[in-house]
Amino acid sequence: MPEELEEKILAMLQDSTGGSILQCELWKALDSGSREVSRSIVKMERRNLVKREPVQDGGRKTYRVILLRKAPKIDLADVSWCACLTCPDLSRCGMGQPISPENCEKLSISLRNEFWKHSKGEELQKLSSTGNDVNAK
Ligand code: SF4
Repeated sequence: MPEELEEKILAMLQDSTGGSILQCELWKALDSGSREVSRSIVKMERRNLVKREPVQDGGRKTYRVILLRKAPKIDLADVSWCACLTCPDLSRCGMGQPISPENCEKLSISLRNEFWKHSKGEELQKLSSTGNDVNAK
């Protein structure tokens, strides 16, 4: 299916160094026909997901396919502060349900703690960049 191929191409670009891969490497790695891959890339280019730049590869003309919007990688450690990750009610929790993020005290507390942690960090950074004694406060 073309959508599956597009998803695979996007995933490969996402994992690539610098978010770009030669088009000929894509169709080899995906074990798909070069025409099929080219068509998918052209469609993705029209939707501004990727762009192609012509390059020479061993004397042959090909394209470098460049991902235009690389999604930030999120590490589990980045969200480990969230109460939902270890919540025993996770499977029963949902918007509009009796157990809901809309009125969850545990979530509110973890969000508040994370907010304060970041606010304090920014404040300390400002103080240290102005040369003020951080411990004086
Ligand atoms: S919103 Fe609250 S109840 Fe729901 S999963 Fe997160 S911590 Fe648990």
